[in-house]
Amino acid sequence: MQIADLIYLRCPTCHATLRLHIGDGVNGSVRCANNTHTYIIRHGILDLLPRAHPTSMAAWSNEWRLTAWAYERIWRPYALSIFSGTSFGYDREQAIVSESFTPTRGLIVDIACSNGLYARIVAKAYPQKSVIGIDRSMPMLIEAQRRAIAARLPISYIRADARTLPMRSGVAEGIVMGGSLNEMADIPRVFTEISRIATPTSTFVNMALIRATRFFGKTIQSALSHGGITFFQPDAIIAQLTRYGWQIKSSTITGIVWFINATRTGA
Ligand SMILES: [Zn+2]
Repeated sequence: MQIADLIYLRCPTCHATLRLHIGDGVNGSVRCANNTHTYIIRHGILDLLPRAHPTSMAAWSNEWRLTAWAYERIWRPYALSIFSGTSFGYDREQAIVSESFTPTRGLIVDIACSNGLYARIVAKAYPQKSVIGIDRSMPMLIEAQRRAIAARLPISYIRADARTLPMRSGVAEGIVMGGSLNEMADIPRVFTEISRIATPTSTFVNMALIRATRFFGKTIQSALSHGGITFFQPDAIIAQLTRYGWQIKSSTITGIVWFINATRTGA
């Protein structure tokens, strides 16, 4: 946790500002300005949530240490090639994410960041920006933190819920989300929160998996849907984003991999 990034945060319970209370960004605690709520920093990660009680299979598997360890090592490098049906390596994904923002100061938030792949891409591409990654899974965040330290990237990782983001309103110049929308239970609430923390000129880059049209893909997706994974019709998501004041700049579908880039219209 970069202590300087506390300026972007608010108490998830009473919305007062958060200040460092004891220790430092590695081991310590922060307390809200009302002196009512205290949150622990451990392993360099600020924990704003109570103990985990995952409600779906996808969320549950994210709580396993093995999943956190295996995610970027084994699964993630090949995921987009499998889902897109073509060679879709990190370099291609990295180019899409890292070319989406302007090289000014400001905050970029990686929502439901897993091992922090997108957080690291933007932190590397925009060293002048602050980058905060949030996720509900502590094992995922510990792995994300380990990778950020190895890459010497000053990313703040926070255990928090995308439905109640811990950022103040109007502070995020950029928001990135890689595949997490498919695992989220309450998308309107997540979009409400993303729109609340966005600045009037904010950019939102989202990668999600869309609904398959072929029988084979449909069968697999039907099985996965019982584990808490939802596949979208892009038009439905675009309609929602538009309602929340986002303008779609680009929307690209490769296989079932969908990248969307949207900016705030100043609404
Ligand atoms: Zn508080």
